[in-house]
Amino acid sequence: MRRRDVPGCGQVSGFTAADFAESLHRVAETLAAHRDELCRLDGVVGDGDHGLAMADGFAAAAKAASEAAGGTLAGVGNAAAKALLNAVGASSGPLYATALMHAAKAAGPRAAMPLAETPALIAAMAQGIVTRGKAAQGERTMVDAWAPAAAAAPQGYAAMRAAAAAGAEATKAMIATKGRTSRLGERALGHIDPGAASAVLVIEALTRHWESL
Ligand code: ADP
Ligand code: MG
Repeated sequence: MRRRDVPGCGQVSGFTAADFAESLHRVAETLAAHRDELCRLDGVVGDGDHGLAMADGFAAAAKAASEAAGGTLAGVGNAAAKALLNAVGASSGPLYATALMHAAKAAGPRAAMPLAETPALIAAMAQGIVTRGKAAQGERTMVDAWAPAAAAAPQGYAAMRAAAAAGAEATKAMIATKGRTSRLGERALGHIDPGAASAVLVIEALTRHWESL
């Protein structure tokens, strides 16, 4: 049993609402650091705004999450989802807002959850993205990173990261049928999907934070 999962001294143990808010800050930091690179990737196959959408969206989500951090895990996830949706006009906005709403539902209306349940949040986020965007694996979207990461959830954090990275890399050989890139057809071949590239960063930041707890 991990130290933080041992209840004691009246403290909330495990993965708390404040930890969840901190996770979203880590994601926002990573996305801010990679903003220009993600815009460049989207400039090749889309409209060049993906880095801005992700960095701004998660900055807003993290801020709202901090404001809700004294409440429940579900409250943090839902507050973050709402802020992200309001901040982003690009397609990644509703996709990640739904991902966060699904994470909120999986985490539940409780002040904390066992740290061992955090991989289920990745699976819930992946499910939210698929529910909202209706893309299947192989269609050259962020689902190509999220779905393999979700499938690897039972194997742990490192396996989720590796699966996401391999899935994103595989988008270079895919032809898009969803989203803006579908207009490019075969011309997108050889370039990584920007949404899959940012998904790797999101999954990295979340799992690295969780394994540090
Ligand atoms: P926009 O295309 O509206 O400018 P972004 O640039 O923020 O939005 O995001 C583009 C990314 O969104 C794509 O690289 C792709 O990964 C993802 N995407 C587009 N449509 C879908 C969909 N239906 N389901 C899942 N992901 C999608
Ligand atoms: Mg774009």
